Amino acid sequence: MTEHVRACIVGAGFSGIGAAISLRRAGVVDLAILERGSQVGGAWRANTYPGCACDVQSRLYELAVAPWPGWTRKFAGQAEIRDYLEQVVEIFGLGSDIRLDTEVLRAHWDDGALVWRISTTRGDLTADVLISACGGLTEPEYPRVPGAEDFQGPIMHTARWDHGVDLAGKRVAVVGTGASAIQVIPAIAPEVDELLVMQRTPPWVLPRRDRAVPEWYRSALAAVPPLQQAMRGASSWAREVQLLSFTRQGPFRALGERMARRHLEKQVPDPALRAKVTPHYDMGCKRILVSDDYYPALMRANVTVTPALARITPRGVVDADGVEHDVDVIIWATGFNVLHPPLASHVVGREGETLETAFHRNGMTAYRGTTVAGFPNFYMLQGPNTGLGHSSVVLMSEAQIDYLTPAIASGLVHEVDPDRQAGYSRDIDERLASTVWQQGGCQSWYQNEHGRNVSLWPGTTHGFARIMRRFDPEAYRIRHKKERTHVAT
Ligand code: NAP
Repeated sequence: MTEHVRACIVGAGFSGIGAAISLRRAGVVDLAILERGSQVGGAWRANTYPGCACDVQSRLYELAVAPWPGWTRKFAGQAEIRDYLEQVVEIFGLGSDIRLDTEVLRAHWDDGALVWRISTTRGDLTADVLISACGGLTEPEYPRVPGAEDFQGPIMHTARWDHGVDLAGKRVAVVGTGASAIQVIPAIAPEVDELLVMQRTPPWVLPRRDRAVPEWYRSALAAVPPLQQAMRGASSWAREVQLLSFTRQGPFRALGERMARRHLEKQVPDPALRAKVTPHYDMGCKRILVSDDYYPALMRANVTVTPALARITPRGVVDADGVEHDVDVIIWATGFNVLHPPLASHVVGREGETLETAFHRNGMTAYRGTTVAGFPNFYMLQGPNTGLGHSSVVLMSEAQIDYLTPAIASGLVHEVDPDRQAGYSRDIDERLASTVWQQGGCQSWYQNEHGRNVSLWPGTTHGFARIMRRFDPEAYRIRHKKERTHVAT
């Protein structure tokens, strides 16, 4: 007999761990959490580049069910966040449900037995419910640049950092100037001999104002849980204010742009460099970055900002102006492939279609970012249009988990109505149409090749939590287990 569980969760990051806690509390205790890595932590396990830290307050990088008064900094570092997740697993006793080094090869819906049949690198199982908790920013984006295969030195991606490569005294090119780049550049600039920052589009950067959290404050939060809760709430509302201020044209966005320009002028006195790194699109169109040490790093004598990477040679890189630079190491800080979620090509629905094909056909949509027609009892955390430009996606996962928990606990088979899904997506597209992400004069990874914004939720995290508070069975075709035509073996 193949092993059977009520719910199979793929991924042991914030979403997977949060889902497991919630399901257990709702009485769904028969779980398998499959994780292809050797440790839990998801993005916070995979991204170990120097300088990696959250860029939204630490307070929002914790699960509401597992409050953490102990954050040592306003913006905690990667290791601290990963350690937090390991402790949550311990505290909630999830270790026995987690299967590390276990990658899903295929998961297909058996519409006769009403189960998911799942093959992994460590054997097969069946499950009533399949939950994708693989994260939205998972697969590194490796740009196809001519000559990359001929380069004689190490090439690595920020999300797959090779700690065996010693950068001390080396000539290094960093490709990209997004959220990962602006953290890694200041962290490695002091140790390398020369650093090329290969910039295609300059980012908007606001002051970060990171600071240590004093011991007395951490003790106060630990002693008074409602205070901890209130501070988390305050942090999330502060982020919502930022969203409301930049998403649409108006005085608040102008104020934000002025703040960012002042930050740039203060930190970059050199007018030529300042001109090079001044953005020429509306603030917020791409993710607004926060840093106190990015511009100072660019001012260093060993750092040069070049135009975008055009070509790679065996000994170095050629920029878009045709200038060749000899380098020893190339670092891709080029972000993630969001258009091909990791599990999508392995999940096969009721009609034998993969999720990837379904996404290709429907423009990458999901009802409430969570369920997809043709895929019964499948729930996707951090699915289409659940990303954020302003706050922590942990809040979005939590809302999705609140939504799917009662549906799964009911023991019924739910499949979303395709018309509901289409209507929901039309509404999302309408809400997004006038936002800075669509109108701000930039191209970003938020959009697919047709310009559809497949990534972002158009509203506040509180607004999303509100619509996700209640599972809406009326949007679903519902079947009972007794309707199965054969039993899973
Ligand atoms: P990203 O924001 O997508 O930035 C990628 C950078 O690489 C951009 O500057 C992009 O330039 C450049 N690029 C991409 N393809 C290129 C190509 N073919 N040639 C030249 N340049 C290329 O990726 P990321 O910095 O890894 O951040 C991704 C997301 O992860 C963030 O938005 C954020 O949500 C999350 N993140 C969070 C944290 C945190 O909390 N601390 C840290 C890192 C990342 P263009 O702008 O011209 O496309």
